[in-house]
Amino acid sequence: MRPTLLDPLFAPITALKGIGPKLERPFARLLNRDAPRVLDLLFHMPSSFVDRRARPTIADAIPETDVTLKVTVEAHYPPAPGRRAPHRTLVADQTGDLTVVHFNVEAGRIERLLPLGATRWLCGRISLFDGMRQMAHPDRILDEAGFAKLPAIEPVYPLVEGLAGGYVRRALDGALARIPALPELLPAALVAAQGWPDFATALARLHHPKNPIDALPSGAPWRRLAFQELLAHQITLALVRSRQSRAGGRSSVGDGRLTRQILAALPFALTEAQGQALAQIRADIRSDKAMLRLLQGDVGSGKTVVGLLAAAEVAEAGRQTALMAPTEILARQHYETIAPIAAAAGLATAVLTGREKGRAREVILKDLAEGRTHLVVGTHALIQPDVVFADLALAIVDEQHRFGVEQRLSLARKGPATDMLLMTATPIPRTLVLTLFGDMDHSELRQKPPGRQPVDTRAVSLDRLDEVVHGLGRALRAGAQVYWICPLVEESDVSDLAAASERAETLRQVFGDTVGLVHGRMSGAEKDKVMARFQSGELRVLVATTVVEVGVNVPSATLMVIEHAERFGLAQLHQLRGRVGRGSKASTCLLLYRGPLSETAKARLAILRESEDGFAIAEEDLRLRGEGDVLGTRQSGFPGFGIARLEMHADLVATARAVAHETVQADPELESPASMPMRLLLHLHDSNATMRLLSAG
Ligand code: ADP
Ligand code: MG
Repeated sequence: MRPTLLDPLFAPITALKGIGPKLERPFARLLNRDAPRVLDLLFHMPSSFVDRRARPTIADAIPETDVTLKVTVEAHYPPAPGRRAPHRTLVADQTGDLTVVHFNVEAGRIERLLPLGATRWLCGRISLFDGMRQMAHPDRILDEAGFAKLPAIEPVYPLVEGLAGGYVRRALDGALARIPALPELLPAALVAAQGWPDFATALARLHHPKNPIDALPSGAPWRRLAFQELLAHQITLALVRSRQSRAGGRSSVGDGRLTRQILAALPFALTEAQGQALAQIRADIRSDKAMLRLLQGDVGSGKTVVGLLAAAEVAEAGRQTALMAPTEILARQHYETIAPIAAAAGLATAVLTGREKGRAREVILKDLAEGRTHLVVGTHALIQPDVVFADLALAIVDEQHRFGVEQRLSLARKGPATDMLLMTATPIPRTLVLTLFGDMDHSELRQKPPGRQPVDTRAVSLDRLDEVVHGLGRALRAGAQVYWICPLVEESDVSDLAAASERAETLRQVFGDTVGLVHGRMSGAEKDKVMARFQSGELRVLVATTVVEVGVNVPSATLMVIEHAERFGLAQLHQLRGRVGRGSKASTCLLLYRGPLSETAKARLAILRESEDGFAIAEEDLRLRGEGDVLGTRQSGFPGFGIARLEMHADLVATARAVAHETVQADPELESPASMPMRLLLHLHDSNATMRLLSAG
C-alpha cells in the first residue's frame, strides 16, 4: 500500500490547474504513459536551457549566439504591398544598430510589437548578413515590465506535437507546488558528503535553475535524483537476488540424450562463445543453488539456440522450461526457429500467446499441466493464472528489460524453485556490467556465428536523398527487401508518426503498394500484420519508427536506411543495423544524416562504419557520451532509466549498490520504521512491482 503522504504526487496531471482533458493526450505522449501523473511530469528532465544572462551591447554581441539586448526602435521597413519580402525593423543602442527580420507577418503587427521610439528587450540569435547584424524572429520581444518577470535561466524540455513549452512550464509550476514534505529518503551522511539538496529542493532547482548547472545532468539536483533512481533499481535487484536464494534451488541433471540429438539436428556447430555460455548455464541448472544469470549477446549472436539447449538439459531431467518474449512477433519467431529442431530431437514444444484461444488453448494448457510439453515459448500470456506447469524448472526471459521485475518473478513462481535465465541484446559495457548487474551471474556471447557477411555501412547526407531513392529502386529490382527507419522526432512540433507516414507516402509514389508502414501507435495485432506481410515478401519496403528494433528476423532484407541517424544513440543504431546482414547476401546500411554534424556526431557515425562489435560500440558510445554532448540525447542506450544518464552518473552506481545491499541485508522485508524512506523511494521511482514483491513474500 502506498503511503497517503505521496498521494499528491500520484494524482493524475489533469488535477493540475490549467490541464484540462484536451491536454491529457499530448501530455500522455510527452511523458510516455497512458494516464500521466504529477510525478511523471516532475521527472520530465530538461533537454537544455536558455541563458539570458548574456546581455551584451549590440557592438559586443557575438554572432551565432543567443543574446538578450536592450534596444530602441528606430525605423520600420514593411514589405511593399503584395510583395513576399520580410518586414525589417531597425533598432539600436549607444554602440550600434541591428535589423530585426520577420517573415510572413500580417501588416501592422510588428509596428505594435515594436512601437517606434520605444525601448524593448529582444531575446534571440544574432547573425551576420552581408556584414550587417540581424536577428530573425526573436524568441521574445518584451517591454520593461515583461522583461522583469522573465527568468534569467529557463529550462527547455523535449516536446511533442500540440504541446508548447509554456504549457509544460506552467504544469510544472503546479506540480512543484504539490510536493509534500517528506523525510530525507537517502542516508543523511551521503547527502551531506555529496552536498545534495533534499528531494523537493532538487526538483525545484532543476526546473527553476538559478545557475545553468542546476539544469544539467552534472549538477547536484540532477545527480541526486539520478542516485535515487539508481538506488531504487539496485534495491530491486538485491531483493530479487535475496528472494531467489531464499527460495532455494533444485538440481536438474540430464543424461545428454536430447542435447546430443539437438546438436545433431542443428545445421551448424556451436561457436566457442555459445559453448562456454552453455557450460556455465548447465552448471547452474545442475547445481542445487537457484540460477539468476544474465546472457548478453548482440543481435544475431545466437542466444536462442543456447536457450534451447538449456531447455534440453532440463527436459532430460523430466522437467519443463518456459521462454517468454516481449512481443507476439518475437515469440512466434523463436518458436519457428526452435520447433523444427526440437521436433527432430524429440523435445515437445508449444507456443502460447494472446492469439491461442478457446479449444486450442485448452489443449496447450492441459499438455503443460500434465507435463507432456517440455518447452513452451510465449508472451505475457504465459504468466496468466490459469497457466499451470507440471514441473517448471527453468524460466528464460528474452529482452529482459522489457519486462517488469514482477513479471519475471511471476513466471519463475510457476515452478517450485525455478532457475532464471535473463537474455538481452543490449550489450552493456564491461565497466558497467558489474555495477549495474552485480547481483546476477553473467555470460556473454561476444563472438558471432561464422559466415556472416559484414554490413557495408555508409554515412550519406540527406541532401542526397534522391540518389538514395534511386539506389533503392535498383536494390528492389535485384530482389532486395528494405527497411527504412524514421526516428522519433522529439523536439520539433512534427510528430514521429507524421514524419514516418510522409516518408511512406513519398516512397509509395515511386514504388507503389509494396511499401508498408509500421509505427508505435499501431496496436500489437496491426503491427504483427504488417510485419508478417514483410516477412512473407509481399511488402518489399518497410517504413518504420524504431519499433522494429527488437530481434525481428527477415533474412532477405539486405538494405537498411536510417533517416536522421545523427539523432539516434550509437547502441540503438547498431541494434537497428542488426536487422540486416542476416542472410547469405551482402547487406548495406545507409545512415542518412542532416548536416552539419558536430564533431561527436561525426565520431559516432565513424565508429559505426568501422565496427560491428556491439560490445566495442557500447564502450565507445559510453566514452563519447562522457566526453562531449553534455546534455546527451534521450536515447541513453540503457533502457529503463528516465533520469540517470549512465555516461554521466556511472560513478554513482557503486554507491547505490552498496547502500542497497546494506538496506536489504539489514531488513529484507523493508518493514522496520527505519526502512520507511526506502519504501517511499521505491514508490517514487515506480518500483511498484518491487513493492508487490515485498508483500507477496
Ligand atoms: P539472437 O537471439 O542472439 O539475436 P538468434 O538466436 O536469433 O540470435 O540467432 C541468429 C541466427 O543465427 C539464427 O538464424 C540462428 O539459427 C543462427 N545461428 C545461431 N548459432 C549459430 C552458429 N553457431 N552457427 C551458425 N549460425 C548460428
Ligand atoms: Mg533473440
